[in-house]
Amino acid sequence: MPELPEVETVKRGLSPAFEGAALRKVEQNRPDLRFPFPENFTSRLTGKRVTALSRRSKYLLADIDSGDVLVMHLGMSGSFRIEADHNESAPGAFVHARSKDTKHDHVVFHLETTTGERPRIIYNDPRRFGFMDLVPRAKLSAHPLFRDLGLEPLGNQLSAETLAGLFEGRKSPLKAALLNQKLIAGLGNIYVCEALWRSGLSPERSAGSLVTKSGKPTKKAIALAANIRETLEDAIKAGGSSLRDHTQADGTLGYFQHSFAVYGRENESCRTPGCSGTVARLVQSNRSTFYCPHCQT
Ligand SMILES: [Zn+2]
Repeated sequence: MPELPEVETVKRGLSPAFEGAALRKVEQNRPDLRFPFPENFTSRLTGKRVTALSRRSKYLLADIDSGDVLVMHLGMSGSFRIEADHNESAPGAFVHARSKDTKHDHVVFHLETTTGERPRIIYNDPRRFGFMDLVPRAKLSAHPLFRDLGLEPLGNQLSAETLAGLFEGRKSPLKAALLNQKLIAGLGNIYVCEALWRSGLSPERSAGSLVTKSGKPTKKAIALAANIRETLEDAIKAGGSSLRDHTQADGTLGYFQHSFAVYGRENESCRTPGCSGTVARLVQSNRSTFYCPHCQT
């Protein structure tokens, strides 16, 4: 399952080809993925221009000059690749083997870029948990996928003060609050574990414990806000370097190798300098939490 940094990396990889490009032709090779494609999917896109590519939570959003937004989600196994005339550009170093089997190429966008190149952007998805939809821009924020989404963890929205506002009086475990998509959108299990470890915070303490009686963020909350952003930015940086390193290789945009300090390291020594603890695993809300009981309090 791609997490937010991977989706952001895919967005950055696709932007140079997509943004400003005309959609000369769109091939849709089956009626559905996880959900049916919207009616008249290809005709609503053909001949139109992509004005911008952005990301909200784990959704890629391509603004079309018709007023529609093409919403794309990678699901479990979705990936994009860019094919130029004779030169396949498909960046990324990958945790999972990406499907190269063209029978899983479900959508092909034939583009003409602002510089006159004619690449194809191909969406491949063997398990078909991904999906695409077309939503009028004016209706996007009220759409069921988007209306309840919390703030973006990247960028200036997430500060210690906003965290304090979200967490004040909240008795739920800190980890559950961080994974609550209505509070913060797109922050996944791996990066929550990493940010809590960096902050020396127990996943089990209550979210409200990061707020003072007067509603201000505690020192730990200030550290956590910074560490959430840095954890994500470090992963994006790693993804960005894999993009640069692999632009001529036969990978695919979508997933990248990234080493984690605590996630997946049960029974290994804690990497916090000076800590003699051992990484433990516990299950919270059916998800594995990796943490160091010694230095995360
Ligand atoms: Zn430790």
